[in-house]
Amino acid sequence: MNNRYDRQVRLFGAEGQARIRAAHVVLFGTGGNGSHVVQQLAYAGVRHWTLVEFDTADDTNLNRLVGAGPDDVGTAKIDIAKRMVLALHPDADMTLIRGGLGEPDQQDQIVEALSRATLAIGCFDLEVPRVEAVKLCSRAGVSYLDLATEIVPSDDGADPVYGGRTVFSHDGKGCLVCLGIIDPAELAREQMPAEQRAERDRLYGLNPDEVGDSGPSVVTINGVVASLACTEALMFLTELREPARQLTYLGQNSVVRKNLTVGPGDCLYCYQWRASRSERA
Ligand SMILES: [Zn+2]
Repeated sequence: MNNRYDRQVRLFGAEGQARIRAAHVVLFGTGGNGSHVVQQLAYAGVRHWTLVEFDTADDTNLNRLVGAGPDDVGTAKIDIAKRMVLALHPDADMTLIRGGLGEPDQQDQIVEALSRATLAIGCFDLEVPRVEAVKLCSRAGVSYLDLATEIVPSDDGADPVYGGRTVFSHDGKGCLVCLGIIDPAELAREQMPAEQRAERDRLYGLNPDEVGDSGPSVVTINGVVASLACTEALMFLTELREPARQLTYLGQNSVVRKNLTVGPGDCLYCYQWRASRSERA
């Protein structure tokens, strides 16, 4: 073949590179974080993809949506991601699921995609679909890597806080849910009817423009977290080493921290992941 992957085969080995080529990655979300993920893993050689995304690019996305330019306003984000993959792999095998996780039509397609997945990666803005992804992936026995970034702007003279984290859930020793990473207050807020949510936000003094899927966002902060996640994904795919369970990027301190906490052991999702691993062993 050509020398396309020569420089990284020196790290991953020919066998590792073959594993990347054979991998099927299911990616939930091709927005601020997901667009970095699809670009980086496609460059690394991933060519079997299932992309899941419902949203369309608008002009407020153009500060960070990798692969998008002014002409893409109004274009489905999933098509922008597809274009990036096809530019690198014209023969890529791509399944596009246009919709969210909660919709029954899409869910059947997602379950089918997970049944032939090597790895699932979640780049959500909200907690509800994260929990849904944990449910679906643990049931399917598919490793699940979740990314999140957050910016809390300066308020009342306090310094702003910004960064993000990656969580790898798959070995039955702790997952996104039992490690307490899902914010129960935020989860409850998202599940409220719109009117009740607005009332609660008012009571708590929350600005709806600063929470959930319309909060502040910066391309480099997304890029750091996505690169941490993609590196762990490649460690997993190539089997170079075990991926880190939990990495936290504290942007305000310029620090990345590895969290070694394990789960409580009585988690249903972790049980399902353990069961599917022992089945395969
Ligand atoms: Zn768990």
